[in-house]
Amino acid sequence: MTKNYDLVLLGGGTGGYVAAIRASQLGLKTAIVEKDALGGTCLHKGCIPTKTLLRSAEVYDQIKKSSAFGIDVSEVALRFEKIQERKQTIVEKLHHGIQQLMKKGKIDVYNGLGRMLGPSIFSPLPGTISVEFADGRENEILTSKNVILATGSRPRSLNGLVIDGIHVLTSDEALNLNECPKSIVIVGGGVIGVEWASMLADFGAAVTIVEYSDRIIPTEDKTLSITLARSLKKRGIKIVTSAQVLPETLEKNEGVTISAKIGDQLQTFSAEKMLVSVGRLPNTEDIGLSNTSIETDRGYIKTNAFGQTKESHIYAIGDVIGGLQLAHVASHEGIKAVEHLAGLPVEPLHSELVPRCIYTHPEIASIGLTEAQAKKEHVVKVGKVPFGAIGKALVYGDSEGFAKVVADKTTNDLLGIHIYGPHATDLIGEAAVAKLLDATPWELSEAIHPHPTLSEIIGEAALAVDGRAIHI
Ligand SMILES: Cc1cc2nc3c(=O)[nH]c(=O)nc-3n(C[C@H](O)[C@H](O)[C@H](O)COP(=O)(O)OP(=O)(O)OC[C@H]3O[C@@H](n4cnc5c(N)ncnc54)[C@H](O)[C@@H]3O)c2cc1C
Repeated sequence: MTKNYDLVLLGGGTGGYVAAIRASQLGLKTAIVEKDALGGTCLHKGCIPTKTLLRSAEVYDQIKKSSAFGIDVSEVALRFEKIQERKQTIVEKLHHGIQQLMKKGKIDVYNGLGRMLGPSIFSPLPGTISVEFADGRENEILTSKNVILATGSRPRSLNGLVIDGIHVLTSDEALNLNECPKSIVIVGGGVIGVEWASMLADFGAAVTIVEYSDRIIPTEDKTLSITLARSLKKRGIKIVTSAQVLPETLEKNEGVTISAKIGDQLQTFSAEKMLVSVGRLPNTEDIGLSNTSIETDRGYIKTNAFGQTKESHIYAIGDVIGGLQLAHVASHEGIKAVEHLAGLPVEPLHSELVPRCIYTHPEIASIGLTEAQAKKEHVVKVGKVPFGAIGKALVYGDSEGFAKVVADKTTNDLLGIHIYGPHATDLIGEAAVAKLLDATPWELSEAIHPHPTLSEIIGEAALAVDGRAIHI
């Protein structure tokens, strides 16, 4: 059967379903083809389930420290099955919410695997979608004026390192652990690796991070890396950097043993489980790209600043085009692609306006250039204020960390903001607005921050740029 649309989205993850809603708002007849579940990685295997587990880990840790708040608790027990149950309830609630939004927007959802056809009897242009259903129903054919590819990404492993889902896991399998492992080796100290390290350590696991680069979270500002490493080590997490894990040395018995080359030395790591968090791969293999002239770079779909591929009626957004693989990037790219194909004026998405969040304990959040990046092109001035100077952080019982503002000394342009500390991921929202509005540190400090709040640290750090901080 053939159905005709203005827009068909391949993939109903954060990028796909948000783009579909925007298309429906603009009056476009829209369909989503999703092979698994609406909400994609973020809802089912990423942002939401991991942050739910992290919240349980945080509560557990807080209870253990409650005597500092004058509250003595006699017995604390971890019930992992209840933690998993809570996670699932939240995921299902949000999943239901997205399904309702699809109904509200009159967006047709095809629960099957979509592939693009080349020019055919259905259309002289490539991009007609053939939908294959798992239950063997006859394929549906969807023709459309425009297509958005939003097929996302999946975990990558090291060459030769087989994910067995029992001893050797990626974040996909780790999410479904029904108990906290006693010990774990985490290969890769990027965002996903350090979040799991922080969480599992709070749950009581003995954690070792083995990282190829010379520091964990290597793409973030160096002070953030150093401070996080120090804090994780203080909590008993072992961190080994400049280490090349050798997949061929993997041995599995009761647990796992693997070796890594560190300089000329070999070091061996043993643990009950191993988590491989070494990046992601784009889902581009089986979507019919070869039937089009769409180009890829290391598997990632190449687009222009508005998401248009080499086939100008076919767009691509989100993880499948690479860059910053974040849910809020995917959704913004989705909205921009839809507005562009609908002929609305659109500003391209600038990566320096994208907040980056790491949900360790304490949290990390940043936007714009790191200090080192800024120094390559600017003469900079830096303001840094510790959370210890902020009353609310002491009240909150979590005053570890700092906020740092990096600005251009001559033009006063705000170049980067980096926060390490309690609720950093919520605080960065203000920095995103400041960057969008091209605010100067002075304007940021003129904004009145209510007292006592953690947000005062942003105003203080902005003042500190010109040596005007009040509380340090
Ligand atoms: C452990 C983890 C934690 C994360 N935490 C955060 C976080 O805290 N904050 C944040 O911003 N980001 C986070 N991310 C990243 C975030 O999940 C992704 O950036 C986001 O999901 C990308 O959205 P997307 O729409 O591009 O792709 P996806 O969400 O991956 O969606 C793609 C969808 O396409 C479907 N699909 C693929 N191929 C086909 C096909 N041929 N036919 C039909 N359907 C298809 C898939 O089933 C999937 O549902 C995390 C990721 C992971 C793995």
